[in-house]
Amino acid sequence: MNAISTVASQATPSRNTQDWQAADSRHFLHPFTDFQGLARKGARIITRAENIYLWDSEGHKILDAMSGLWCVNVGYGQQSLIDAAAAQMKELPFYNAFFQTATTPAIELAEVLAEISPPQFQHVFFTSSGSEGNDTIVRMVRRYWDVLGQPERQVIIGRKNGYHGSTMAGASLGGMSGMHAQGGLPIPNITHIDQPHWFEHGAGLRGETAGLTPEAFGLKAAGWLEAKILELGADKVAAFIGEPVQGAGGVIVPPASYWPEIQRICDKYGILLVSDEVICGFGRTGQWFGCETMGTKPDLMTFAKGVSSGYIPLGGVMVGDRVARVLIEQGGEFNHGFTYSGHPTACAVALANIRLLRELDVVRHVREDVGPYLAQRFAELNDHPLVGETQSCGMMASVQLVKDKTTATPFDEALEVGMVCRGHCFGNGLIMRAVGDRMIVAPPLVMTRAQVDEMMGLIRRCLDLTLEDLRKRGWL
Ligand SMILES: *Cc1c(COP(=O)(O)O)cnc(C)c1O
Repeated sequence: MNAISTVASQATPSRNTQDWQAADSRHFLHPFTDFQGLARKGARIITRAENIYLWDSEGHKILDAMSGLWCVNVGYGQQSLIDAAAAQMKELPFYNAFFQTATTPAIELAEVLAEISPPQFQHVFFTSSGSEGNDTIVRMVRRYWDVLGQPERQVIIGRKNGYHGSTMAGASLGGMSGMHAQGGLPIPNITHIDQPHWFEHGAGLRGETAGLTPEAFGLKAAGWLEAKILELGADKVAAFIGEPVQGAGGVIVPPASYWPEIQRICDKYGILLVSDEVICGFGRTGQWFGCETMGTKPDLMTFAKGVSSGYIPLGGVMVGDRVARVLIEQGGEFNHGFTYSGHPTACAVALANIRLLRELDVVRHVREDVGPYLAQRFAELNDHPLVGETQSCGMMASVQLVKDKTTATPFDEALEVGMVCRGHCFGNGLIMRAVGDRMIVAPPLVMTRAQVDEMMGLIRRCLDLTLEDLRKRGWL
């Protein structure tokens, strides 16, 4: 064997799945992964995609009901995004925005984002991810109160089981106990209240929801914010952050009463309201941003994922007038930024993505057509013996698996019933995610009704297979 053919980086188109898996486990540490567990099993190698479908290295076709990772809003293979990247790379692949310079795609994208955002948003700060966006939020919120002469307003309130990314600040704002357990999180002056999760809180039968309507529970759950503010002292609280619909937490859709009451409480105490729109933004809920669906008027919005449909990394923060005015007129230099803040190629792809969303009228398609249809089809799953609850909002939906639906009794967590179901999904050409025993989807927004039917057929088949499997195991 000559020396050149042993060079690892050499292109080796003939490598088979096992080769790829072996190289993967030798060198690639995957996010949120038990490295040894994956090495034993071998990763599924995804090789190409078109529209809402993926193909793996074994040639299996898979319906991607998670839009990659909540991001491929326009579906795969959109030529205008591909062309925008190529053209921008040829013209000017990169230049920074640090030293009083700017590139035209970044300026144009800022303009377009101001256009499609609620009217209070006229300014944007660019990052390359949602996590960096939320780090920016922490620094910006604290800077805002400093400039106003209230530096003691430090505390940011998030929610248990909220997800705001995986950097130190992002993971701290989030309320994922598994993340907090590693690396000394949360960082100081971040605290959490309970989530507005109807099923977890007793599904109307017990606990915090006992005897309540969902609407009454929504008000009660929002009240936990006021209680926390009073406990800390309102003059210590800087901001509240939440996802309009919790995504990674399990597609948890709050009662309609929840967000307006959160808004009222923030207004009452002068606290900044931050809407993390990383999943809900760019049409996912049937409006451009989730806050419009939920009826709030946030001061800041984090975005990422759908802004570029995941074709290239991009994120940022929409800065509302209340904060922008203070930072611009009184703040002086803001000592924060990233090499790739306003990356021209990323911005060019995002511009093409937003242009396409507009051309195809995708937001209205979600709001008036395919979103309501998905809701209707998901509600039909309630007749299934394993299903304790379904929820949906625009193009995201969840189904809670239960041991006994009449009493809303969950399975023993240790059984990992969600993972059993996910296994059947993988085996049947469907990517549906498991969050505990909650099965979730967030498919591409361009999905047709016929494709929703195709997905629902797969989901029902996988629920049936799971039911059969659980009976065989004696878990039911
Ligand atoms: C994915 C996500 C983030 C983090 O974004 P990254 O690009 O992974 O850093 C933040 N907030 C929400 C709501 C998300 O879903």
